[in-house]
Amino acid sequence: MVVNWYDIVWFPQCIPRHTFLVWLLMGEKLKTQDKLKNWVIRSVQNMPIVCSLCLTEADSHDHLFFRFSFASSVWRCVWQYSDVFQACESWKDVVQSLLPIVSKKTSGVIVAKLLFGASVYTIW
Ligand SMILES: [Zn+2]
Repeated sequence: MVVNWYDIVWFPQCIPRHTFLVWLLMGEKLKTQDKLKNWVIRSVQNMPIVCSLCLTEADSHDHLFFRFSFASSVWRCVWQYSDVFQACESWKDVVQSLLPIVSKKTSGVIVAKLLFGASVYTIW
């Protein structure tokens, strides 16, 4: 299956340990609580599902990678180094802002992709 975000994840300058996490994020394959609650585990069903870091809501890809206060502080730092990510309100917005330019091989685009990968790695 060909995906339109391939070049966001895989490019010659990518950092493999960042790339692996970005790949899992793009497929929403990280084991967050919103995924785990669908598993049938009787002993866990009655436990409250809430983010263990901030105790405000169940963790999910959207929560961990943007709405969580640590994640939003990481993104605010990233935005200082690349104007690609301005006005993003979720990690999916970040991906949408990268998609139109992702095949360009300019230093600004490469830096933006590296910043995205490093941010995802740092937040996770
Ligand atoms: Zn949280």
